[in-house]
Amino acid sequence: MNHADVYRGQCLCGAVLFTLNGEPAGIGYDRRECPVNAFGLWKQQALHIVRGANDIGAYNTSPHGSRHWCKWCGGYLYTEHPRLGLVDVHASILECFAHEGMNDLRISHRSS
Ligand SMILES: [Zn+2]
Repeated sequence: MNHADVYRGQCLCGAVLFTLNGEPAGIGYDRRECPVNAFGLWKQQALHIVRGANDIGAYNTSPHGSRHWCKWCGGYLYTEHPRLGLVDVHASILECFAHEGMNDLRISHRSS
């Protein structure tokens, strides 16, 4: 269990560094991806770009969201959902991200 006040994330090369203040508004995982991808959702105002704001590229993946990445290494950073006022971040790029709610996530594997 981790009750960090600030979570730090960065791209693969380190050009972009950001923080997320406070606990996530929600957590989850996407079973459509392999390997399974865990993510956290924060309110948009929790996101602060510490380094490399000019090195961030963005692509509108839908009318409701935009995916952001590092222009240098191509590393995924986060996806903004402006209509919801949320940003989602893969747990794998956050330092020490462990949330008590993660224990509630169940992953089922189907054999076929
Ligand atoms: Zn990078």
